[in-house]
Amino acid sequence: MTRPTDRPPFPGTAKRSGRVGLGRGFSAANSNTRITLPGSARVAAAPLVATHSANLGLNSDRLRFRMIQRLRNQGIQDERVLAAMSAVPRHLFVDEGLASRAYEDAALPIGHGQTISQPWVVARMISAMCENRIPVKVLEVGTGCGYQAAVLAQFVKEVHSVERIRGLYELARDCLRALKLVGRVRLSFGDGMLGLPNVAPFDAIVVAAAGVKIPPVLLEQLAIGGRLIAPEGGTAQRLILVERTGAAVWHREELESVRFVPLRAGTQS
Ligand code: SAH
Repeated sequence: MTRPTDRPPFPGTAKRSGRVGLGRGFSAANSNTRITLPGSARVAAAPLVATHSANLGLNSDRLRFRMIQRLRNQGIQDERVLAAMSAVPRHLFVDEGLASRAYEDAALPIGHGQTISQPWVVARMISAMCENRIPVKVLEVGTGCGYQAAVLAQFVKEVHSVERIRGLYELARDCLRALKLVGRVRLSFGDGMLGLPNVAPFDAIVVAAAGVKIPPVLLEQLAIGGRLIAPEGGTAQRLILVERTGAAVWHREELESVRFVPLRAGTQS
C-alpha cells in the first residue's frame, strides 16, 4: 500500500507568479481578462496559449494519460473519477515553475504554506466518497487552488467549496474561472469547519485538511445515505470514511495512513 502524503515535499511557501494559462482543448471566456494572483502583481492573462501550456507544450496530454495509467495501477477503478482527472489540466493549478512536475504523484506547494493534494489522494478520496452513488450536491472543505473542486465538477452538478485563506480563495476563483467552472463550483471564503448550514444537507463531503477530530457540525450537514471523507489526526493521520445511515447514526471506517496540512479554525486575510 502506498503511503500518500499531502504535505509539501519541501518546506516553505512557493510564491505563485506568472499566468493562469489554458491548456489544449480549453478556451478562455475572454483572453484579455485580467487575473489577479495572490502575492504577485496584476498580470494580464496571456491569450490562450499561455506560459504554462507553452512550457509544457504538447506534453500535458501525454503526462496526464500516464498519470491516469498510474492511478489505475494503484487501484483506482472508478471510471468517472479517472475520466474527470484526465479532463482537468492539473498543471494550470500550480506555479509555472512547478508545471513540469504537476503530473507526478506528489503534493506540491501552492503558496501560503499549503499544497495541492497528491493525485492518488484526490482519486482515492473522491472514489470512496462517491462509491455506488451519484452525489448531486457536494461540499469540499479546503479549496486550496481549486484542483479537486474542478475534478469533482466534471461529474457532480453542484460543488460547494470553502477556503479559509483569502489568497487561495482568490487563486482558486481565478483558476476555475479560466476553465469556465465557476458556475458549477461555488466558492466561499470562510471557515469550512462550520460547513455551509444554508446549503446543507450534502450528499457527500470531502475535507482536504486534517483535524484532530472530524468536526461534528460537518457530520450533521451530511444527508442520510451521504458520505464524508476526511483525514483525521495530528502527526499520525488516517483517512476516515463516514456514512450517515440514519438521523442519528453514522458508520465510521478507517482507511489508509495519510499526511495532510492541518485543518484550522477561523480565516486569514
Ligand atoms: N483541495 C485542494 C487541497 C487543499 S490543501 C486540492 O485541490 O488539492 C488544504 C486546504 O485546506 C488549504 O488551502 C487550507 O488553507 C485549507 N483549510 C484548512 N483549514 C480550513 C478550514 N477550517 N476551512 C477552509 N479551508 C481550510
